[in-house]
Amino acid sequence: MIHVRLPDGATRALTPASTAADLASAISPSLAKRTVAAVVDGQMADLNTPLPDGAAVELLPREDARALELIRHDLAHVLAEAVQTLWPGTKTAIGPAIEHGFYYDFERDTPFTPEDLPVIEKKMREIIAARRPFTREVWSPDAARAHFEAAGETWKLELLDAIPKGEPVTIYRQGDWLDLCRGPHMRHTGDVGGAFKLTHVAGAYWRGDATNPMLSRIYGVAFADKVALDAHLTMLTEAEKRDHRRLGREMDLFHFEEVAPGSVFWHPRGWRLFQTLIGYMRTRQEEAGYVEVNSPDIMDRALWETSGHWQNYRANMFLAQTEDDRDYALKPMNCPGHMLIYGQGTKSYRDLPLKLAEFGKVHRYEPSGALHGLLRVRSFTQDDAHIYCTPEQLTEECLKVNDLVLSIYRDFGFDDVRIKLSTRPESRIGSDESWDRSEDALSTALETAGHAYTVFEGEGAFYGPKLEYVLRDAIGRDWQCGTLQVDFNLPERFGSTYVAPSGEKLPPVMLHRALFGSLERFTGILIEHHAGHLPLWLAPVQVVVATITGAADHWAADVAETLREAGLRVETDLRNEKIGYKVREHALKKVPVQIALGTREADEQTVTLRRHGAPETQTMPLSEAVTALVRDAKAHGGA
Ligand SMILES: [Zn+2]
Ligand SMILES: [Zn+2]
Repeated sequence: MIHVRLPDGATRALTPASTAADLASAISPSLAKRTVAAVVDGQMADLNTPLPDGAAVELLPREDARALELIRHDLAHVLAEAVQTLWPGTKTAIGPAIEHGFYYDFERDTPFTPEDLPVIEKKMREIIAARRPFTREVWSPDAARAHFEAAGETWKLELLDAIPKGEPVTIYRQGDWLDLCRGPHMRHTGDVGGAFKLTHVAGAYWRGDATNPMLSRIYGVAFADKVALDAHLTMLTEAEKRDHRRLGREMDLFHFEEVAPGSVFWHPRGWRLFQTLIGYMRTRQEEAGYVEVNSPDIMDRALWETSGHWQNYRANMFLAQTEDDRDYALKPMNCPGHMLIYGQGTKSYRDLPLKLAEFGKVHRYEPSGALHGLLRVRSFTQDDAHIYCTPEQLTEECLKVNDLVLSIYRDFGFDDVRIKLSTRPESRIGSDESWDRSEDALSTALETAGHAYTVFEGEGAFYGPKLEYVLRDAIGRDWQCGTLQVDFNLPERFGSTYVAPSGEKLPPVMLHRALFGSLERFTGILIEHHAGHLPLWLAPVQVVVATITGAADHWAADVAETLREAGLRVETDLRNEKIGYKVREHALKKVPVQIALGTREADEQTVTLRRHGAPETQTMPLSEAVTALVRDAKAHGGA
């Protein structure tokens, strides 16, 4: 007999070579019916693999979150079978489960098109309805090679070559179809259920390498049930409508060019939005006692050697050489520049906390495949700051940063903020005492603010613990934006000190913090969160004054002038176009307030106001409109 342990601590005796399926049946027939997979000694396993003696076994029902990965992986196999049934001779490459779903790469003379997807999906549903059992077989490498050679599956031969000698070659079969696969899989194709959808096709290089042949990839999404699938599909449709790249074009905010991959060309409206964000942050930081500095963009390699970037981060840096044979790098981070500013002159405990802020533009080389509009770029502006303080001031400073960041997010309409605390990793610098104090400062800040947080044990950087602020947007997506990080490393590398009351020179405690994170990325998130309909205080053009007739041109000029004097961002539209045409055009550009002026308004010195989201237009005296708009333009989301 062998013995296995269940999660509740009970042990079960089974005959040798028993499987997890046998275990489930031995416990109860209804459990056996519900169980689709098992976790054996911490590893996902299929039900038909014999259990080792002494194993810890957990039986998983289909509803378990961990079964989702199997559902998705099973679907990749079902997809490949469907494709090869419909188009015999199509070669298969790889097909993993991914976040939200699965894909499979195929080689075929004509790549798949979106029109093929419903046909494939129908065939997949037939395979699922047939409940074909997944069976695992171990083959000899030679047998596997002979099989895939005969089948013309050249990509599988490459995968076979990559299996280290001595490791078993496993094959999963479903009916007549089979695949080279590590597993595990569920009991049969019926276990995947029906909550899936093929979403799109794309070209994909074999092994992601552009020097390899291009394969045709089919993507699908899959969930445990229809409710979760529908919610995801709704989110995808919403996300597409909100795509900041399209809205950025329609609203005339920015564009990209191949001459500067991942770098933004800001148009007047986009740059005004960007500067509104900077202006807002500058005001909030000044109120909070920060001082703004500016450090060079290009600095000598010697600085980056001192900071450690040259040794550890060079692959991500843009390098430059000059005629005098000096090596420079564009700054990927602002911190080293601030260390040099801190190092000027003697600092005393009376100078601390010193909070150096910079809207610093940093450059980081990202692979071109990773670039994505404003959300993933190669050059971006951080609302960066470094706080130098004494150990005694640390808790208070963390509290202040935490209060500031949450208050700022509220102003932008983000009320749902999740916070992660990452603590000391195995390999680290700094004394246990410093780590205790820093982790304690960060958690105290969160507890004082009454904010829930999740601890990620051991996930901190080697030089200090950190907080990360994750915003949940209007359609439920999470975006990590702000960070607050304690650093024991840089003050030591740069030999930074301050004079303590005792006259002793001590290293300051250093905090790195960014609240928006990247201003480019935050702009992209804001656009998507608001679906382009930015609140009045952020809109680059707040009011368009449009005429219905040339007879109102003079009145339009007066109205625009009055609104500008009241501090509003105003444009006029005096073109000889129909008012309906003008209204549609400015609505597409997401201008929040439109004022239409005809003969009647000009005679009566009134304005007709059309606000985004309001069902009707309103006619009122100009002074009344000015008061209302000025009031609304001052109000932040949370104010
Ligand atoms: Zn597989
Ligand atoms: Zn920093």
